[in-house]
Amino acid sequence: MATASRDRVELSRTLGERLSFGPRQPGDEKAFTDAILAQLRADRLLWVVSDEENAPALSIGDTARITFNIARLSGSAGLIYAMHMSQALTLVRHGGDTPFFRELLQRLVGEQVLVASGTSEKGVGGDIFGSICTIEEDGDTLTVTKESPNISYLDHAGLILVSAMRLKPNGKKVQMLIAAEMKNTDLQPGRAVGFMGMRGIMNKPYALTVRFAEEALFPDPYPVIARDTMTPSIHIFWAALWSGMAASALDKVRASISSSPPAESDVADVMRSELSRLVDKHYAMNALIRDAVVAFDNRESVGGMGMAHTADVKRLKVLCSDYLTEICLGALGLVGMRGYAEAGTYSLSEILGDMLSARVMISNYRLLTNNAKIERFVEERL
Ligand SMILES: Cc1cc2nc3c(=O)[nH]c(=O)nc-3n(C[C@H](O)[C@H](O)[C@H](O)COP(=O)(O)OP(=O)(O)OC[C@H]3O[C@@H](n4cnc5c(N)ncnc54)[C@H](O)[C@@H]3O)c2cc1C
Repeated sequence: MATASRDRVELSRTLGERLSFGPRQPGDEKAFTDAILAQLRADRLLWVVSDEENAPALSIGDTARITFNIARLSGSAGLIYAMHMSQALTLVRHGGDTPFFRELLQRLVGEQVLVASGTSEKGVGGDIFGSICTIEEDGDTLTVTKESPNISYLDHAGLILVSAMRLKPNGKKVQMLIAAEMKNTDLQPGRAVGFMGMRGIMNKPYALTVRFAEEALFPDPYPVIARDTMTPSIHIFWAALWSGMAASALDKVRASISSSPPAESDVADVMRSELSRLVDKHYAMNALIRDAVVAFDNRESVGGMGMAHTADVKRLKVLCSDYLTEICLGALGLVGMRGYAEAGTYSLSEILGDMLSARVMISNYRLLTNNAKIERFVEERL
């Protein structure tokens, strides 16, 4: 498993060399992202299986490394990969040991199907545990209609994981997760407002109506799945995405400085040391990601996700989105006008637009507020 996983990281590192895409132009983000997704599918990187067991096998660390390599080429493709892999991991870890989930997984792997996320909902803001929509039951057919503020890449996805409430016989509600086939889902798209970044992704609000059978419900309640797998993995993969974007911004700074070094030597010194300060921040980002990967891998031995671990996952998101902002704005300052331009070798336009999504994709304020409430119970130790 480890070898297959490592080989795939190496394959993702050379992804750009296998793309047949001409020089980038402003406005081609969607075409470029689609070309990357097609190549990822051709390389069988969307679902990686072990050679021995023919079962899904990719470590969290290697998934993060692949996300980094993709994001270095395109923030949009990196975001799609990060979100898909968090959904894929959820299916592998929490899908029941039932014929339905076994066959589903086999098909997803065989056809390299992208899995989308339908967890946010209109009316509850970014509180993923506050579903309003409730599953209706009519004989063997279950239905749910959910108003989603935004769902990404439904033009590519074959399955979507949707959270919704279910009324239990005792009258209480429990939040569940549904493995919803796109072919059994009616979509009423809302008016797409257009985002400032991540323009390689079809992002739209939708009213989704999903029809499914009982077997498509995950056995664990959604809060357990979210706390155990979906939330920690998405924060690690998002941080890896942002690290890849930061690496791309720093590449442009290095290329810009060496293509036209400043005439005055004292300015050159300042620029070099400023670049080094930005690399410090990138180093800190990567150290946080590696630490989060180790904590994720070790949590079984320490009895699951404790309060401190849950808080750390939120810190990872807040800190890495802040570092990304600082690195990208610092890069813009160093590259200057050529970075501010919409097009050209040194343009930072796409990265800067993509970077803005980092702090709003689950608001940093929401995460900070949650952590502030438990800070007195959590002690940071070395
Ligand atoms: C590029 C992109 C792609 C996305 N793709 C998907 C997808 O595929 N599937 C999906 O389900 N969702 C997706 N989303 C939606 C996303 O996951 C969240 O639902 C969304 O970011 C919630 O944002 P919000 O500002 O509406 O809500 P909120 O988190 O409620 O924030 C609203 C405002 O209130 C503030 N706020 C919120 N909570 C607090 C608090 N506790 N204390 C203080 N201030 C607070 C915030 O800072 C913000 O100003 C995507 C979002 C983006 C940006």
